[in-house]
Amino acid sequence: MVPRGVKRSLKWIALCVSFVVVSCNNDTKTNSSSTSNVVKPAAPTAPSFNSDSAFVYVKAQTDFGPRVPNSVSQSKCAAWLAETMKQFADTVIVQNFQTRGFDGKTLNGKNIISSFNPSKGNRVLLCSHWDSRPWADQDSVDKDKPIDGANDGASGVGVLIEVARQLSIAKPDVGVDIIFFDIEDYGQPEDSKFPEMDDSYCLGSQYWAKNLHTPNYFARYGILLDMVGGAHATYTQEGTSNRYAPAVVDMVWKTASDIGYSDYFVFDKTKPIIDDHYYVNQLAQIKMVDVIHYDFNSPSNFWKHWHTHGDTIDKIDKNSLKACGQTLLQVVFNELVN
Ligand SMILES: [Zn+2]
Repeated sequence: MVPRGVKRSLKWIALCVSFVVVSCNNDTKTNSSSTSNVVKPAAPTAPSFNSDSAFVYVKAQTDFGPRVPNSVSQSKCAAWLAETMKQFADTVIVQNFQTRGFDGKTLNGKNIISSFNPSKGNRVLLCSHWDSRPWADQDSVDKDKPIDGANDGASGVGVLIEVARQLSIAKPDVGVDIIFFDIEDYGQPEDSKFPEMDDSYCLGSQYWAKNLHTPNYFARYGILLDMVGGAHATYTQEGTSNRYAPAVVDMVWKTASDIGYSDYFVFDKTKPIIDDHYYVNQLAQIKMVDVIHYDFNSPSNFWKHWHTHGDTIDKIDKNSLKACGQTLLQVVFNELVN
């Protein structure tokens, strides 16, 4: 995703100037209790998300090495992802595409699209990017070497594979699509010597949004995961999500609060970023929110190991995977009473 303060993102940030950071608003953190008296049908209990299993799926990806475009690791991991999802989903499609990076290179990408109950009209879309960044441009050493991307990429995909495994057992009567987007993180570094290029991040989601895997594909809403596995993760209500899909933000964060994860899904509103959800909203016109770790204490406001060689499997915290995955399962199972 595009970080705060990068020149090429300023235009977008300026458009969204009204979405400013509201830091640590304790009043809003407790507002879920105000709805607790409303009488409604009891939501079915979702199956229990297994964070040990999710962790294994995160590690399996990093064991392939950096999943950068045009690499052997990319091909091998893509094949593993597709085979793994075929065990759980009704259909799995690999959408092969070519695109061009900011540096002029032709990049070969694979979006991996898995569907449950493909004939259902009522659909929910869950996404994460599975590639890892080819550079460590936020590090002080080895900036030109690729990162492991245990959190930035693999964590969200690991959560979604475990969600898929649970859906294969519990089989909810709603349509669910899970897309692993490729080439999210080939975005132009701040110190790049190439001419400035807009929209250099999120190339896989841009391709998918312009080339939907089924004609007239539509989901009622979507949820994107990015960097969800850091310890004590805080997923704030990020500005692009609030702009395009405020009702989905309310629903997801309330669901998390209802099942005890308001320490993770905090109600703070933070500035907009460009991530895959921006293009899904803008180009595919599906209301999608981003669940992403906002770090109030790091200079970038992203997770402290973001785009560094510190983004390794030992930083992945099962409690954060659980908070995220259990919330997603509950969202899907709440569909049964809506
Ligand atoms: Zn990244």
